[in-house]
Amino acid sequence: MMIAPAFLGQFSEEVTPGKLRTAFKALGFTGMVEVALFADILTLKEALEFDAHIQQEGDFQLTSCCCPVWIAMIRKTFHELMPHVPGAVSPMVACGRMVKKIHPGAVTVFAGPCLAKKKEAREEDIKDAVDYVLTFQEVKDIFEAADIHPEELAEAAKEHASKAGRLYARTGGVSRAVAEMVAQLRPDRSIAVRARHANGTKECMKMIKDIKEGNTEANFYEGMGCVGGCVGGPKAILDVEEGTKNVDQYAENSAFQTPLENPYVLKLLEELGLETVEELLEDTLLTRDFREGV
Ligand code: SF4
Repeated sequence: MMIAPAFLGQFSEEVTPGKLRTAFKALGFTGMVEVALFADILTLKEALEFDAHIQQEGDFQLTSCCCPVWIAMIRKTFHELMPHVPGAVSPMVACGRMVKKIHPGAVTVFAGPCLAKKKEAREEDIKDAVDYVLTFQEVKDIFEAADIHPEELAEAAKEHASKAGRLYARTGGVSRAVAEMVAQLRPDRSIAVRARHANGTKECMKMIKDIKEGNTEANFYEGMGCVGGCVGGPKAILDVEEGTKNVDQYAENSAFQTPLENPYVLKLLEELGLETVEELLEDTLLTRDFREGV
């Protein structure tokens, strides 16, 4: 089971990440992986892309990770901006591919608050990664039907993502993660990340209009299809305020501040056969050609 970063507290306050892992195992899953760990890796990739492409004032980057609604909007309606979107897969796809690489033959199931992820998983060039997509609501219904009560189960905790990856679940999280990563990777850089983010499709449209008309000073743009980000997704169980509060708290409690400090990230890079983080820019498992399948 691959669980979206917005999962904190969605199945009740008592259901900790460790209890949720035990509940999925009781359902028959081999294990539970937090997709936030792959958000960590994509943060590193986005930071490296920023460093490679933002060379002078006026250059800018639109984030490629996470939200399929934002990406579809740019690909279909504002195609001329695609050269500013790095060719990266989403954390969900990165997670699915990595699980299948480490455990050949594994069936991968993603659960999140999002309906658009069901469509993303079927896109031609990335359909190898995720076999099934469930919503949090569907997972809750399955637990009820199977008479499994996660809050009563034992803990099976594992430390995985850094603060950066955990924040992806809320608007502004990607920008903050990438800005901090660029500052850590390239402390002497003359142009820092100046981020702007948009909440919901209406704000995304307005932000794109401002970019096209030159009415913005930012150089890194993050769009989220739902107001509040994924915690405001259509199939989130909690309301957006509570979901955000839980995610922020989980991020603050992380043992690692950035992906570079996270030993699990470094272990995964090793599994990918990468000797330096810079090689992430070329890695095919995490890279996507957005010109395909439009
Ligand atoms: S912001 Fe909404 S549409 Fe975008 S990935 Fe999150 S839940 Fe899905």
